[in-house]
Amino acid sequence: MSYKDDNLRAIKDEVLALSASPLYQYRVDNKYFPVIGEGNHDASIMFIGEAPGENEAKTGKPFCGRAGKILDMLLESVGIKRKDVYVTNIVKDRPPGNRDPSPEEIDIYAPFLDRQIEIIKPKVVATLGRFSMIYVMNRYGLELEVGPISVLHGQTFDAETDNSQFKYISLYHPAAAIYNQHLLDTLKEDFKVLKNLA
Ligand code: URA
Repeated sequence: MSYKDDNLRAIKDEVLALSASPLYQYRVDNKYFPVIGEGNHDASIMFIGEAPGENEAKTGKPFCGRAGKILDMLLESVGIKRKDVYVTNIVKDRPPGNRDPSPEEIDIYAPFLDRQIEIIKPKVVATLGRFSMIYVMNRYGLELEVGPISVLHGQTFDAETDNSQFKYISLYHPAAAIYNQHLLDTLKEDFKVLKNLA
């Protein structure tokens, strides 16, 4: 196992045991899994969604339900293979009834996301939806650029961690496109921008 595999495994073990999380008991009561992330540990593109839905919590895999089907279609539309990217969420456990994650939940899980970024060192970070957008922009030096996702989607920025740099792009959440053809078209256009960054 590489150091990346070891360090990502350590994150999984820590999240599994995260009884301090407000979502821990709900996970245990429902026999759900935490959803840590999935994909290539050397990926040049990392996608960051919001939080697992029911399908994801039942399987432990990110974006495996309806939003995941849209993500797969968007990736395919620009010739990117899902096995080549890394997909994760800012919050690793399912919030009850798919409600929005709370600020407290984001605070407790975000350090794991930061470690995933440091370990994988993607060339491109793409957030899906506004929760991960706001977190990543504030965390990685783009706080002055934060604005509505309707303005920021598809725009690219240079961002940096303590010891690496990445291109950042904000994307709408694929779930928002389930009943919205206009948003789906916008996502398709933004994925072309993403493809050119990688
Ligand atoms: N929505 C998300 O934000 N993440 C998932 O993993 C699934 C749906």
